Amino acid sequence: MLIYNSQTHKKEEFQPIEEGKVRMYVCGPTVYDQIHIGNARTFLSFDVIRRWLIACGYEVTFAQNLTDVDDKIINRANEQGRTAEEVAAEFSAAFIEQMRRFNIMDPDIRPRATKEIGPMIGMIKSLIEQGHAYAADNGDVYFSVRSDPAYGEVSGRKVDDLMVGARIEENEDKRDPLDFALWKAAKPGEPSWPSPWGQGRPGWHTECAAMVHRYLGTPIDIHGGGSDLAFPHHENECAQATCCWHQGFANTWMHTGMLLVDGEKMSKSLGNFFTLKEVLDQHSAAALRLLMLQTHYRSPLDFSWERLEGAENSLERIATCMENLVWAAKHASGKADAERAAALIAAAEHAAAEFEAAMNDDFNTAGAVAAYFQLVTEANTYLDEVGGDADEEACYACSAGIAGAFAVLGVELREPKEELPVGLLGVAAGLVGYTGDSVDEAAEAVLAARAEARAAKDWGRADAIRDQLRDMGLVVEDTAAGSRIKRA
Ligand SMILES: [Zn+2]
Repeated sequence: MLIYNSQTHKKEEFQPIEEGKVRMYVCGPTVYDQIHIGNARTFLSFDVIRRWLIACGYEVTFAQNLTDVDDKIINRANEQGRTAEEVAAEFSAAFIEQMRRFNIMDPDIRPRATKEIGPMIGMIKSLIEQGHAYAADNGDVYFSVRSDPAYGEVSGRKVDDLMVGARIEENEDKRDPLDFALWKAAKPGEPSWPSPWGQGRPGWHTECAAMVHRYLGTPIDIHGGGSDLAFPHHENECAQATCCWHQGFANTWMHTGMLLVDGEKMSKSLGNFFTLKEVLDQHSAAALRLLMLQTHYRSPLDFSWERLEGAENSLERIATCMENLVWAAKHASGKADAERAAALIAAAEHAAAEFEAAMNDDFNTAGAVAAYFQLVTEANTYLDEVGGDADEEACYACSAGIAGAFAVLGVELREPKEELPVGLLGVAAGLVGYTGDSVDEAAEAVLAARAEARAAKDWGRADAIRDQLRDMGLVVEDTAAGSRIKRA
């Protein structure tokens, strides 16, 4: 399995630290509002990566934090006249709710920053003792960037370039403008915890580093997040973790590409800013997942409502194909053409192989999905051509392959349309004196009566049958493979 490591800018053969096991961490949200669909794309990407690793037999331990203390939360609380705790609690719950709606698997471990203050203080103390951090007079604690010779390696930056290029805020408490806060002294009214440096709260980068170490142990196999987190967040997480514990931090860094809306950067001022909740209120999770998976996770993803509508249509096409395959298998005449059946089975095997190869090539979900779109097209052609003489085994092989592939991707296909209503027994009894208790047989009897009426040009009777079915919400569909009764 090849994974693109954004630290080395190369696809590398994946080698877990411990055989058969993968430990991965993905930075969670700062909980001050509903997440937008750009964030959702990142979480979906890592959900599918995790699902594929599990499908490949790895025992995956997945941790994701909730940043529940932060300037953004405090600002939101002040705007709304609430406490920061109230805002964080509301949007932590909202985040979890929307993730579940989006069919994202819960993490194995979901630490909350505010419950991890002790380990963070311990880490900062150790960094001070080792000469990598210092307490300033104002009660802040800063990491000394120049004390870490490896600083810049995660995001490919050179410290001296940062000095030239970066617009660094003036701060007289820092010894060097590049230094960043590990601990922030509390301003009046802010949430704070006691520490050796006075009341305060941890910096964001410290949260993740401490939680990774506590829950997964360092180094971990995969550390992920959106590409906007590579610098400074991931760089700073890595710097303090490696300086504190003298071990690697993450063997593979993975970063997801940004999300555009109609080709433009999403922003509130452009009016093209959408939260995950807004989108899931209008469309299925499966369609949004499918849309997103049709672009490789590292490439920019272009979202539009038209594309989402298109994904809904694709899902319907797939589900209908599977329904038709199962129906054709159940009604197989036993006179199937063996050569055609073998070709369809070969196509199903080819799709499975392509899917696996694509997923093993840096989680190329776009290629994986395309392999099954192709199979759906081939299955539809097969069903059209063979009419009622489909091969049972080939049909089931195809439908099982399609179901399995989309299940691995967490794209839930709709259930086959429900069984026909028992009311059909009464209709069949009235029309042809059917006395059995099988709804399927009753449907066949009604169809036979309809065919008979039509053959005899008894349009009154044919219409009466149609009307009786319609009263039960049913229609007759005439296809190349024969006629069937289904729900309207
Ligand atoms: Zn993080």
